[in-house]
Amino acid sequence: MAAGRIVIVGTGVAGATAAETLRKEGYDGQVVLIGDEPGLPYRRTMVSKELLSGTATPERAQLKPAQFWADNNVELRAGVSVTEIDPEARTIATDDGETLAYDALLLATGGRPRELTLAPAAVSAPGLDSGVHHLRTLRDAQSLGSALAEARSVLIVGGGLIGCEVAAAASSGPAVTILESGGAILERVLPHEVSVMLGKLHTANGVDVQAGVALTGIVRGPAGFTATAADGRSWTADVVVVAVGMAPNTELAEAAGLAVSDGILVDEFCATSAPGIFAAGDVARLPNPVLGGTHRVEHWNHAQSHGAAAARAMLGGISGVAAEPYADVPWCWTNQYGKNVQIAGWPGVAQKWAVDGSVADHDFTALATRDDRLIGAVTLGRPKDVRSARARIAAEHDAVGSRV
Ligand SMILES: Cc1cc2nc3c(=O)[nH]c(=O)nc-3n(C[C@H](O)[C@H](O)[C@H](O)COP(=O)(O)OP(=O)(O)OC[C@H]3O[C@@H](n4cnc5c(N)ncnc54)[C@H](O)[C@@H]3O)c2cc1C
Repeated sequence: MAAGRIVIVGTGVAGATAAETLRKEGYDGQVVLIGDEPGLPYRRTMVSKELLSGTATPERAQLKPAQFWADNNVELRAGVSVTEIDPEARTIATDDGETLAYDALLLATGGRPRELTLAPAAVSAPGLDSGVHHLRTLRDAQSLGSALAEARSVLIVGGGLIGCEVAAAASSGPAVTILESGGAILERVLPHEVSVMLGKLHTANGVDVQAGVALTGIVRGPAGFTATAADGRSWTADVVVVAVGMAPNTELAEAAGLAVSDGILVDEFCATSAPGIFAAGDVARLPNPVLGGTHRVEHWNHAQSHGAAAARAMLGGISGVAAEPYADVPWCWTNQYGKNVQIAGWPGVAQKWAVDGSVADHDFTALATRDDRLIGAVTLGRPKDVRSARARIAAEHDAVGSRV
């Protein structure tokens, strides 16, 4: 296979899997994997679970041991930021002063926690930043973990997947309150009955779940942080965690003139609008094989398989091997209080839900339909059902080529 150099930006699972796949597919050129986080690629999914609760060490969270990257001749440059891409010259520049030419470039830059959109004055109290945490990286988990160890109380803004996992991980320590803007936690992706059941699970574990919170401000005073809501409610705590979603890291691509719209736009071969540049994982906006249009997927397994697909697509451009178009029915999981809930497809667009089993007994599969076709599924205690639901979703929508 032709030598040359493939540069990958981002050492998350998409970038790391792409590097691994290039070698598995026999690429014998130079593979340079650059990431601005220090250390080895790790399992981000453990950040809000074992790494936050302290039940696993950072070493256990590593995707591969250091020797793996050396054995596979992957040049891992950790703690280095890519600052510029020149698509004409086919070069990238790094913050340690290097310019590297590439034959193909993969942008696997992931995302960062979304900021709270409150009026600036409402969050500008002196010293506010020092006690307000976000959670994306291993470092974030270490910093939040230390703060929680000292704290008597914590407010979690956002009852989504990460907010709920933080509550579960923290519940054995400080008093935990979740402030959720919707009618129930996780209601955007779960049937109401399941949201209510999970809310009860949190309550049973001592977490105060507050729904319908239209946050108007967070200010720091002598007693700690006070969050206020439009209806006059307020809560005070030592620590605040903001978990209101993520924003894709598209700035590098945008500055280089690539097509970007809440994500780097790619086709079904992970190709961006610039020749020789590909994107994968959380940062990529790709064709949706089931609903049509485009979507971004923020799940671990997608980032992994999309990174692998991008590697094969890059090799197609270099060695002429035909790549498969990427089409996938996404799925993810969340662990809270020892319960493993799995979510497949696009439950957020469901028109109807049908539950098989018992939600109260934590043993069920809920199937979501839209226009009488299966569009999503949620399971607890029945992981095999997720696999069959994904296959059915693809089949019922003629999503040819879908990998399940
Ligand atoms: C706390 C948490 C828990 C999660 N739990 C689950 C779960 O239980 N199940 C599930 O399915 N999904 C979960 N997810 C989602 C899943 O982890 C992500 O979808 C996945 O990790 C995305 O991988 P990625 O490689 O696309 O991006 P990322 O993991 O974000 O990696 C991108 C990397 O690129 C780096 N980078 C960005 N810009 C540059 C630059 N200019 N130069 C160099 N490096 C750069 C970033 O710092 C980062 O290290 C969780 C996410 C989080 C944050």
